[in-house]
Amino acid sequence: MPQLLLCTGNPGKLAELRAMLPHHLELLGLRDAGLPTDLPETGNTFAANALEKARFAHERTGLPCIADDSGLEVDALGGAPGVDSAFYAGPQKDDKANVAKLLHELQGVKDRRARFRTVIALVGQEGEHLFEGEVRGTITREERGTNGFGYDPVFLPEMSDLTFAELDAVRKNAISHRGHAVWKLVRFLAERQL
Ligand code: IMP
Repeated sequence: MPQLLLCTGNPGKLAELRAMLPHHLELLGLRDAGLPTDLPETGNTFAANALEKARFAHERTGLPCIADDSGLEVDALGGAPGVDSAFYAGPQKDDKANVAKLLHELQGVKDRRARFRTVIALVGQEGEHLFEGEVRGTITREERGTNGFGYDPVFLPEMSDLTFAELDAVRKNAISHRGHAVWKLVRFLAERQL
């Protein structure tokens, strides 16, 4: 059975992708491959970070490896928090504090347009490929909803009256940046009959 390594230590991400991949592919996580679960991410772009993690794992295992990097880009903040989304309010990676800082930065700001972006990198013997997904929307003035994580309670996707945190996981994945990028990857693997 062909194997594919997903560079994550998050069992939720692993299960989600496993459910979407063709069944003949065996999906492994970093722990299954004996690798550390916090791979280096030192780049300035989502693509650089995703590639860095996938290359790191591929060099050590020889397996085809996939890694993703995502974040929120706010137009009025020049694209911030971007690659720093997880650490916007400090190194403790605190979702609540990140959201509070974002709402504070946007106090009195009319233009609230933003987008979530994901880049997935696939690194294998036959080269490197990138798959990108994005969803545009606006930042609300207060938090709404309790589902999801990160900036979900303040992100209102285009054409929706509900924030990401008011949508269930299936509805969010159908329109989300991560959902779009994963579907591009899945289509690519299916077309190559990998
Ligand atoms: P990661 O690269 O998927 O770990 O995402 C990095 C950071 O971006 C997260 O810690 C969140 O702060 C933010 N982020 C990425 N995707 C989402 C999402 O779907 N909803 C809310 N926040 C997200």
